[in-house]
Amino acid sequence: MEYEAVIGLEVHVQLQTKSKMFCSCGADYQSAEPNTRVCPVCMALPGVLPVVNIAAVESAIKIGLALNCGIAEITKFDRKNYPYPDLMKGYQISQFDQPICIDGWMDVQPEGEPDAHIGITRVHMEEDVARLTHIDNAPGKSGHSHTLMDINRAGVPLMEVVSEPDIHTPAQAEAYILKLQNIIRYLGVGTANMEEGSFRVDANVSVRPVGSDELRERVEVKNMNRVRAVVRAIEYEIQRQPGVWESGGRVQMETRGWDDIAGVTIVQRSKEEAHDYRYFPEPDIPPLRIDRGWVEEITASLPEFADDRRTRFEGEYDLNEYDAALLTASRATADYFEAVVISQDMTGDELAAFAKESANWINGELARLLNAPEGPSDINDTKIKPEHLAALVALFQARTISNAAAREVLEEMWSSGAAPDAVVADRGLLKVSRTDELLPVVQEAIDNNPNAVEDFIGGKETAVRFLVGQVMKATRGRADAGVAADLLTKTLEEVKAAR
Ligand code: ADP
Ligand code: MG
Ligand code: ZN
Repeated sequence: MEYEAVIGLEVHVQLQTKSKMFCSCGADYQSAEPNTRVCPVCMALPGVLPVVNIAAVESAIKIGLALNCGIAEITKFDRKNYPYPDLMKGYQISQFDQPICIDGWMDVQPEGEPDAHIGITRVHMEEDVARLTHIDNAPGKSGHSHTLMDINRAGVPLMEVVSEPDIHTPAQAEAYILKLQNIIRYLGVGTANMEEGSFRVDANVSVRPVGSDELRERVEVKNMNRVRAVVRAIEYEIQRQPGVWESGGRVQMETRGWDDIAGVTIVQRSKEEAHDYRYFPEPDIPPLRIDRGWVEEITASLPEFADDRRTRFEGEYDLNEYDAALLTASRATADYFEAVVISQDMTGDELAAFAKESANWINGELARLLNAPEGPSDINDTKIKPEHLAALVALFQARTISNAAAREVLEEMWSSGAAPDAVVADRGLLKVSRTDELLPVVQEAIDNNPNAVEDFIGGKETAVRFLVGQVMKATRGRADAGVAADLLTKTLEEVKAAR
């Protein structure tokens, strides 16, 4: 029998607010010394009262709107009870039956696969737990000898985005995750970094015979800290589960962990051991009424997201899909590109040519500098002002400077923030295309390379290419290669005729 996969994703997204979800401690737990962002509230001392962080609520609404959700008129918090050492209170403040956002959707277009329309069940707010680090310093003993606890992370705002089981292939799951990360980053509400644990994906996976619409027993896979790991874990389950059904067994409802090295999922706990969380309304936080005017304001403030922006770049600047996708992968890069292009006041074909050349420089040389280990990696932090990059592109397009010179200028702009025309003047990089300037260099190349001259006279026209190279070397890349080639050919023809 042929099977198809049914997948629903639950994603925890950490929000980058100034303070924590229910207290005024800083939420910058990653950069702070352990246990320095702590107060009686997030340490769970008795008698304290939580206060809702309104900035976190606003971020949750932004994400909900970006995912086409309805925003609740009234939302409330609930206690989710379970015992674990990272949870000092013995319960987590979360949301159960009245989450802040419900009933949304996301469309994805995975490469080489049909588009998918994925329902978003809900987005709810909760708080993160403390961070445990298990230390193994007891040689010979299995397991760890002791555990360190960092309470900095306890109480950091967390959002859970739950999808409907509308995903049917690993590529669709991947596209969903990448788009959700992109939305979080465009909104600037979090880093959505999986390796750091700021974006945690749990994958619910089941299989069913192709053509049926039943929902069979599923497993929930956890512990994946890269997108690639999620894809592999889903692939693993898709090849494991049909065998279980085919051999007359039943897939067990269970939580499995992903072992990235072995490339397998491993049972962590079965359904029988599943917790009953005994949810009940958080008595210390009254329900929140979400003002409609506020939701409208937030709606109006939403940025143009990557998909729309890519389509607009293709139309407005005549960019190809590849360039437009690279430029819109991050909001900062897209903003930078638009600042470069807008600074020139062009239209039509001129604009398209300039946009294409600008895209080449931003996606090429500038990206290379940004990705180098030293120096800033965020385009927002580059010393190169957009209008300076535009001026450089213009110089290059007008063939005022050579490709090699333009690259040299860009490196200087990168390290000093100088304007390109100043660097060009300083370093004497203007392209040499005037005959009277080039002729002596051409003559010198001919005088110094008698073998190449003989080759040419013997009919080997490629000798010209070698001599152009010599001219370029002598002028440190500043010679206009076309003009140099013409002059060389003309002079060589004269030598030949004189024989
Ligand atoms: P729970 O309360 O156990 O977390 P939910 O009904 O809230 O269960 O579903 C959690 C996630 O599991 C959702 O993302 C949902 O889409 C997904 N899911 C539910 N049923 C299935 C199934 N049969 N196969 C795959 N995923 C499923
Ligand atoms: Mg769940
Ligand atoms: Zn605190």
